[in-house]
Amino acid sequence: MSETATSRVQTHIGDPLSQEPPVDRDKLEEIFQDIQADLRFDHELNGCLNCGICTATCPAAHYYDFSPREIVQLLWTENLEGIYDAMQEKIWACAQCYTCAARCPFGNSPGGLVMLMRETAIKHGMESAKNVLRPFSRVMLKLISTGNQLSPDMINPQHFADWGPNITKIDAPLKTLRKAIPMPTLNTTATAWEVNLKTSIELYTIWEETGVLDQLETIDENLFDVITDFMDEKRDDWEDFLEEQEDDED
Ligand code: SF4
Ligand code: SF4
Repeated sequence: MSETATSRVQTHIGDPLSQEPPVDRDKLEEIFQDIQADLRFDHELNGCLNCGICTATCPAAHYYDFSPREIVQLLWTENLEGIYDAMQEKIWACAQCYTCAARCPFGNSPGGLVMLMRETAIKHGMESAKNVLRPFSRVMLKLISTGNQLSPDMINPQHFADWGPNITKIDAPLKTLRKAIPMPTLNTTATAWEVNLKTSIELYTIWEETGVLDQLETIDENLFDVITDFMDEKRDDWEDFLEEQEDDED
């Protein structure tokens, strides 16, 4: 192998046969520093005996090419290439059950570290994050635009064929039944419950201030545009409501 080819394979992160340019050292350091800078990092990582108890009890390790011990070792030894490589695929196998955290003799939380790596992958707009989160765009739209995730109207036989014969049980007159529920916020089938306008505006503000919307823009620009349109409309409605209140008082 030529010297050029050797250095390319050695420096390339992920698939060494890919035509994509290698990830430079500065980027790898920036990603690791972002993981390390999180306030939770020192709490989740205290050292590592390499004992493998976490992996032995991890359900994801049972089914996938994934090991919490490996994740902890990569972070503990500051293996920047390995950390980036794991963020390409492996970290998305974790089920976030935290069995590992309950068992680790060092008090580490491999599941918590995986969460930090996922958040960093989203922040940096990594392809792995986009691919994993794309199927959830409908849920995110529903959650951010209405304040809740699943509505009775979304449960229909076409969407839940895997329920088998039980699916007929949802053919109940939901609109009538929901209107009979004493809490007015549940008298709807378009959302799981009605979130009032003021609460919606407060939720938007929280998502904006905490950077959730910035992250959303990084991974799915179209969804971000749709959601910001929703937010602008609701904020206009809220302003109108406040003006009406003031007019009534005058
Ligand atoms: S159980 Fe804790 S100490 Fe043992 S390998 Fe896992 S993270 Fe390291
Ligand atoms: S939180 Fe993740 S790494 Fe830890 S045991 Fe559960 S699936 Fe495994």
